[in-house]
Amino acid sequence: MNNTEISRIFEEVGDLLEIQGANSFRVRAYRMAARTIGDHPEQMADLFAANPRQLEEISGIGKDLAAKIKTILETSELPQLTELRLEVPAGVADMLRIDGMGPKKTAALWKELGILDLDMLKAACESGQVAGLKGFGEKTAKKILEGLAHVAESGMRHDLAEAKFLSDSIVDALQLVPGVHQVSAAGSVRRRKETIGDLDVLVTADDSTAAMDCLGTHPLVEKVLARGETKQRVRLRGGMEMDLRVVPAESYGAALQYFTGSKEHNIMTRRRAAEMGLKINEYGVFRGETSIAGRTEEEVYQAIGLPYIPPELREDRGEIQRAEKGTLPKLLELADMQGDLHMHTTATDGTASIREMIDAARQRGLKYIAITDHSKRVSMANGLDADRLRAHWKEIEVIRAEYTDIQVLRGIECDILEDATMDLPDDVLAEADWVIAVLHYGLKQPKDQIMARLMTAIRNPHVSVLGHLTGRYLGKRPRAPAAMDLKEVLKAAADHGVMIEINAHPSRLDIDDLGAAAARDLGIPIVISTDAHATTGFDVMQFGVFQARRAGLEARHVANAQEWTTFKSLLRSNR
Ligand SMILES: [Zn+2]
Ligand SMILES: [Zn+2]
Repeated sequence: MNNTEISRIFEEVGDLLEIQGANSFRVRAYRMAARTIGDHPEQMADLFAANPRQLEEISGIGKDLAAKIKTILETSELPQLTELRLEVPAGVADMLRIDGMGPKKTAALWKELGILDLDMLKAACESGQVAGLKGFGEKTAKKILEGLAHVAESGMRHDLAEAKFLSDSIVDALQLVPGVHQVSAAGSVRRRKETIGDLDVLVTADDSTAAMDCLGTHPLVEKVLARGETKQRVRLRGGMEMDLRVVPAESYGAALQYFTGSKEHNIMTRRRAAEMGLKINEYGVFRGETSIAGRTEEEVYQAIGLPYIPPELREDRGEIQRAEKGTLPKLLELADMQGDLHMHTTATDGTASIREMIDAARQRGLKYIAITDHSKRVSMANGLDADRLRAHWKEIEVIRAEYTDIQVLRGIECDILEDATMDLPDDVLAEADWVIAVLHYGLKQPKDQIMARLMTAIRNPHVSVLGHLTGRYLGKRPRAPAAMDLKEVLKAAADHGVMIEINAHPSRLDIDDLGAAAARDLGIPIVISTDAHATTGFDVMQFGVFQARRAGLEARHVANAQEWTTFKSLLRSNR
């Protein structure tokens, strides 16, 4: 159990307790603990192994919660959560996934209208029952209906971080099984899609029993759903399902290609094979009855006259034609990343100091960073007004002078307010080294107003980059993107020399792959940033890089994949 998983358990306990109407201090204690654990630089398992006492000493944890962490570490579950799940119907907890629905509203709908799932909720909104409930009204009912449509659209998909963690853990375990030779994840997780439905893993093995026994008894597996000669289906903790397929070595590459998809890409490869008088399927590439390739993916692509196509590009977006012409991009790698231009400290809602963030960035080999705490509109996060921001920047200046091997920019994540003005005056923004302009509030405003806000930011000469541009959220409570004409926004950004961020947080990945490709086509430098709120927050850079790879970006398209001097020359103030 890693910190993220323990944190999720406490978060769910907090949510379910609040739906039940538990004491607000108790609820808050769980939420705080979830956050503390999620952001903690050391693994709870390591601390516990070294000395169980250490857990109690973490601020905000204490004896009670430490005992619960111990239970989770030892048994992989928390009986209290199991009980809560029985008391609060799963369909009721699902309501929390709707944008704008907190535990209080959820509890009211459950207890006063007897709503038990999303279908009942939809019916109650349409019949006017919800609008009639005290504290709700027409507007709220309409908002809930919109939120329901969005949840239905995104389905019960899981974010890439969760999917990749589960998939990697199981691939690692299978690799250690004697008699198992090749192991790989396939499917959309291998293509690094931002949300994932099911997982697929392929192996070659002397016999399938050992591999299937390993998966069946893996601690992340909740239940074996089916087991046959060559295929096993399991349900993992957290609800994802996984198929394990045991394939013959001579078909491994063909199976990997087939099960990695996408379906659309495979239609194109099949068509191409047919035009060449070949047949391609999960067993190999065939001329008549004779297999001519199948052992490796490279071999499979070669048989149809193509170079290897990286999984991230297999979406039928022109990759076959590019492969044919030999113009596939040389995709960005995580190791190319030189800087990180979006992060928070204890000055606002981060958990680490300026110095701790700088040290953590250096440890990861970063050559330049920007400290970008929140502006005052984000009062929940103790956002900075002009005076506090200037004092914060002074502090950064003093600390950065001590370092010779890393450049530290004095930045700000400045809100673009609902009335289309910036949250900080121009003279303050002019003093910044790096300004990220963002929409945090009023994301449901009409398109015209959202566009007016974005144009304000783009036209402001001090704005360096638009951060998490669309405001979409892929997490447990998904949020639809703000209404905007993306083409027009990108065109204006290109004209004014404003960069576009790929926010690497797995719940955001905003701007998405298609948006990033469109920005690249306009010559806009892309910045991939972690939005770290803790020293461990830098870990998510990989997900931003995956999204960039799906957009077909090369290192030269990404501003913070450049050396410091090149990056500096790209800054708006230096052009
Ligand atoms: Zn933000
Ligand atoms: Zn931020």
